[in-house]
Amino acid sequence: MNKTGEYNILACSNCGSNQLKWASGGSDSYLDIIGDTNSGMYECAKCGKMGVAIEFKSEADRKKFEQTLKEKK
Ligand SMILES: [Zn+2]
Repeated sequence: MNKTGEYNILACSNCGSNQLKWASGGSDSYLDIIGDTNSGMYECAKCGKMGVAIEFKSEADRKKFEQTLKEKK
């Protein structure tokens, strides 16, 4: 849980993956973004899309979002 106690799940807006890495800042460690700032540019390790992460209250919500994206394709 992050310092605010909520909204600590971030996911790719394109595919729903949580395998994100910062597109800026010099660190390429996955998931380092969790617990840090809530906004920023990322690069998705799964689909390669660069953008702004979507926040979720829980991993279950993220998985639901990811599943929705899969069903649309
Ligand atoms: Zn993605």
